[in-house]
Amino acid sequence: MIRLEEILKQRWGYDSFRALQREAVETALSGRDSLVVLPTGGGKSLCYQLPAATGQGLVLVVSPLIALMDDQVAAAREAGLVADALHSNLEANHRNESYRRLLKGETELLYVSPERLLVGDLVETLASRVVLAAVDEAHCVSHWGHEFRPEYRQLAKVLERFPGAARMALTATATPAVQDDISAQLLLRDPARFIGHPDRPNLVYRAFGRRDQSAQVLDVVRRHGGEGGIVYAQTRSDVERLAAGLKKEGISSAPYHAGLPADQRRRAQDDFVNERLDVIVATIAFGMGIDRSNVRYVVHANAPRSVEHYQQESGRAGRDGLKAECVLLFAASDLVRHRGLALMNGPLAPERERAMERQLREIGRFAVAPLCRHRILAEHFGANYPLDGTQTACGACDVCLGETQCLPDDEAALTAKKILMAADRASGRFGTGYVAGLLLGIADERVKRNGHDKLDIFGALKEKSQMTLRSWIDQLIVQGFLKVVEEREYPLLSITQEGKVFCRDGGAARLSVPVSPPARAKKKPSALAQAAGAGLPPDQELFERLRRLRRLIAEKSGVPPYLVFHDAALVEMAALKPQTIEALRRVKGVGDHKLRRYGAAFVSVIGGAAPEALAGVKNGHA
Ligand code: ADP
Ligand code: ZN
Repeated sequence: MIRLEEILKQRWGYDSFRALQREAVETALSGRDSLVVLPTGGGKSLCYQLPAATGQGLVLVVSPLIALMDDQVAAAREAGLVADALHSNLEANHRNESYRRLLKGETELLYVSPERLLVGDLVETLASRVVLAAVDEAHCVSHWGHEFRPEYRQLAKVLERFPGAARMALTATATPAVQDDISAQLLLRDPARFIGHPDRPNLVYRAFGRRDQSAQVLDVVRRHGGEGGIVYAQTRSDVERLAAGLKKEGISSAPYHAGLPADQRRRAQDDFVNERLDVIVATIAFGMGIDRSNVRYVVHANAPRSVEHYQQESGRAGRDGLKAECVLLFAASDLVRHRGLALMNGPLAPERERAMERQLREIGRFAVAPLCRHRILAEHFGANYPLDGTQTACGACDVCLGETQCLPDDEAALTAKKILMAADRASGRFGTGYVAGLLLGIADERVKRNGHDKLDIFGALKEKSQMTLRSWIDQLIVQGFLKVVEEREYPLLSITQEGKVFCRDGGAARLSVPVSPPARAKKKPSALAQAAGAGLPPDQELFERLRRLRRLIAEKSGVPPYLVFHDAALVEMAALKPQTIEALRRVKGVGDHKLRRYGAAFVSVIGGAAPEALAGVKNGHA
């Protein structure tokens, strides 16, 4: 009987399994197929890496993300596994080494790209030794998923050649339809399904109306001084502008988009992963292949085009399980732009267009509905939230934290009616700013010329601000009472049929306002302070010294810092201050292998030594 907990502690330094990990590991070891759906950061790799550590045979991992493979191999080696990767980008000497270990039967864990596996010769070599064939990013096999890859369709044929091996398909997001498709396409045999809850409890979601993009982005970045973060913007020029703004404020940052030269992009990505750079400002071109685990925040300066995209992009925050923040700055014009881009090359097929409209509506609703954001996301992916069906506040979104508040129902209905009537009077010929101006009672030239200063709704909401009115108009667009149509590049606001019915018969509308910042708790504790929880507070100065040591070691061994130790481990060290190797072993994330390699150096720094004096420690222990 293998003691799985013992292996977990010895190799990875963890005391307990995360949800469904143990079940997935046991199923694989018993030879049964499985489908594992765990959210980003849920710990999927352990599900196939731990079986490799039991010495029962070779674990094969098929993954399309070649860019990540070397880091994954490095991570597995940090746990003391004999791990290798075979893919087209390998240097010859590495490849020969890998083959040698494979032929001698030493390899415990082998990553391959689907292309490499399909070549054929490899299958022969592996056939008798594979005990588990894991297919990562398994949603790529499905047309229904969001990243279909044709090579994945041929995997089933190869898997048939390993009759004795259990199969494990893994992915972070799969609706029930995609789950069925994965299972069918990979010919999983009566698979056990381990479907995790999609919620990421360590992420704090905030969605606000966009007022001043640069200022709002800067505000978030400043709150996270010195921490890693990603800022997503919609277009290349948005990216350039925001990145330049951050640079000017002296923030360690770089732009990233598909229009930049390849080497500049590679450098930005490399610097970010290796913590030489704090902030990346990027289009959605950035992300695939980013495994930095201590990204402390993701800001969307514009709304993405679907909730799926939002989940994936914001999900790059907090993979290490420590607190991280996801901020969405929303304006309804983002959705208009997405629609424009989608229709740029002519009309879509009706069902594609309906799907797009639904996706835009859903992301809009996520951004403006004054409902718990964790709950909206969980329900979007078909799960209940909170798990136990209670109605308690999540404590981790702007709504539950009281940063966004709803107007009372009757006030909301009355206000909505005034706004809708103003839009109706302006009869679809004017933009949001103009309609807001009418309600505020601003009698400029144009308004006077149109005689709109004589309207009954002129100045009907004059005690409000322009910003509040723009946000309410966005909220009413998302609720379907107003719509924006583009005419000659100019977005015009008009009332919908539902809006007219509302004006005539009344109804329910929801309007929210951000609570002004001074009323909010001014100081937000850092991830570091929160991570300490009820235990001892970590010593900030020591934490920074440990971070420096980690970076020096990482540079020397050519791996990203998070592979040496996660932030969580450093936080615990900075709190507990273990003075001996034995004491250090009790810190979560410190396995035997890492203890041998790095233990002495970290204990010395905890004891007061300067990291720079220990830069050479790693050598000789590897
Ligand atoms: P996924 O691939 O599901 O996004 P990973 O496999 O990269 O997630 O794991 C996410 C993080 O969680 C990693 O830093 C990993 O070391 C950590 N982790 C995995 N399992 C455990 C566990 N049982 N206890 C603590 N941390 C864990
Ligand atoms: Zn909430």
